[in-house]
Amino acid sequence: TARPTGSLLDGLDPDQRAAAELTAGQVLIVAGPGTGKTRTLTHRLAHLVLERDVPAEHCLAITFTRRACAELRERLAALAGEHAGRITVATFHALGLGVLREQHDRVGRSARFGVADDAQRLAVLGELIGDGTERQARRLLADVSSAKRTLAGRTASSASTPSPVDPDLADLVARYDQALRARDLVDFDDLIALPVTLLSADPDLVAHYRDRFRWICVDEYQDVDELQYLLLRLLTPADGNLCAIGDPDQAIYAFRGADVGFFLRFQEDFPTARLVHLTRNYRSSKVIVAGALAAIAPSSLVPGRELHAMRVQPSADRIHVRSCVDEEAEAQFVVREIDTLLGGSSFHSRDSGRVDSDGFAHGVSFSDIAVLYRTDAQARPIAAALAREGLPFQKRSHDRLAEHPGVREVLRHLPAPTASEVEHTPLRVLVDRAAQQAGEAVARGTGLTTVDDTPDEAGRGLVAAVREAADLLAPLADAHRAAGEHERLRAFLGFLSELRLGAEVDTWDPRADRISLLTLHAAKGLEFPVVFLVGCADGTLPLRWPGASDEAAAEAEAEERRLFFVGVSRAQTHLYLSHPARRSRNGQRQDVRPSPFLAALGPELLDRGSDPARPRGGGRSQQLRLL
Ligand code: ATP
Ligand code: MG
Repeated sequence: TARPTGSLLDGLDPDQRAAAELTAGQVLIVAGPGTGKTRTLTHRLAHLVLERDVPAEHCLAITFTRRACAELRERLAALAGEHAGRITVATFHALGLGVLREQHDRVGRSARFGVADDAQRLAVLGELIGDGTERQARRLLADVSSAKRTLAGRTASSASTPSPVDPDLADLVARYDQALRARDLVDFDDLIALPVTLLSADPDLVAHYRDRFRWICVDEYQDVDELQYLLLRLLTPADGNLCAIGDPDQAIYAFRGADVGFFLRFQEDFPTARLVHLTRNYRSSKVIVAGALAAIAPSSLVPGRELHAMRVQPSADRIHVRSCVDEEAEAQFVVREIDTLLGGSSFHSRDSGRVDSDGFAHGVSFSDIAVLYRTDAQARPIAAALAREGLPFQKRSHDRLAEHPGVREVLRHLPAPTASEVEHTPLRVLVDRAAQQAGEAVARGTGLTTVDDTPDEAGRGLVAAVREAADLLAPLADAHRAAGEHERLRAFLGFLSELRLGAEVDTWDPRADRISLLTLHAAKGLEFPVVFLVGCADGTLPLRWPGASDEAAAEAEAEERRLFFVGVSRAQTHLYLSHPARRSRNGQRQDVRPSPFLAALGPELLDRGSDPARPRGGGRSQQLRLL
């Protein structure tokens, strides 16, 4: 199809455009929330392929979650059409998996090696250490995991100053790795660690991948960990084309080994790198942008952080702050307020096309609303209150789905095709069968859904994931129909491993018209017109770990503040910060103070609820009928 004349980059502002046009060498894009980092990344890739004639096969886009990958692919398809399909869009783990599939014999695995889930890892470790509680085994598994990462980092980089690894632990790691290998398995850490080890020992292999991926873009670069960083360095020659994008103030994965230090030293690593700042925020109202800036100010890692609100709004809402008696009352507050927004604001405008005073062009729909929280447990009272009111919602859990009993059941029922089946059955049939069997397993396992029935919810999410992947694979299946057994087997195994990788992440469907319940971590990169951030209470946000040293506690508090910043900056027009004055934990009721983070927000930005209650509208039943 013909594109209108003019560049793809016309959809960008001058700074974004400059960043997208710097396609040679290294570029670091440092920018706050809502400044169009992700948008710039997609336009840059589309521009490279369509307007600079770079073969799509040479482009690699990396981001951190499968969902973010799916969104990137979708946005790229909209911009670059069929070319987009040939750009590699992957998480670090999926990229590592791809390398290992190609190089399996060099790590002593067959072409059909599997990715171990937690149950399999525990079983392997259990056999090595003999008796012990599951809790002990889990703790040991965490130690093994971090030792593995340290050891792999050490082989790959002479520059790093590794923390010492206890010799007994190193010995256990060696035996554990041996056992995995004997079972033709790799674990999650291996997906990055093995490619890093392989590449750092083999210049020819490095040259091979450097030649394939000549343009690399990484979104959310502030959250790389050491091994991911090393992998990226191995893939990028000194004069390579690398574009790293991120916001140090949104670094929220230190607890998982991410280190914002890699972002901060980008210009030392690449002395000729260009630096671009984006400062225009296209997401949020003026008040919310001001609130976000105030929230991060005490621990910002970006000197002189600038963020200018570009959204023009007729009657901007202030940030609503509410103190509630307890968590039940807080949940009721959220539901009441949602009711008002859905009913009161602008049902009629769907017909008239009128933009109402709140700035909603089409009335508020369920998918416009997100409820965010620090820890998964906080979702319970909210989910229960929404369910009582009959409001549709979807919860995105940050847990490893593969660990839910229901999901384990589903994965157990996914077919492992025999070699002969693979040879004689069209891939499409195998995939359909996987989807159907997964569905049956869920139905058998759990029955009706209730609010707290997480396994069922998770299981349904997995089925959705299987189905989604099966769409995804249909063209592949056609392409491989003529191909040999080897190709088909690889495609199918790739699909199953992808599924296991993906099983970690997503029950959440961005297109469903439901209210989103998300942890702050899961909300990163997303935006919603209406955001409720619940549990803004001391001890919840910031969450505190007893017994930490002063220095560690200060670090942890800074990261909690960045999480608060991430939460505040998800909102486009309406932001509610609420806290319970009392909460129960382990059967104990305790009084809690509001979060100290709230104090950073100036009173001129806030609405503390002294206004008379807004009139309740009556439009919700009509809104529901529209679904
Ligand atoms: P985050 O730090 O939260 O990941 P981001 O910097 O990646 O944010 P995007 O998600 O890319 O920001 O963009 C935020 C919103 O602003 C999106 O709705 C996007 O479409 C819009 N936007 C970005 N740039 C422009 C522009 N030049 N003109 C109009 N809208 C824009
Ligand atoms: Mg983004």
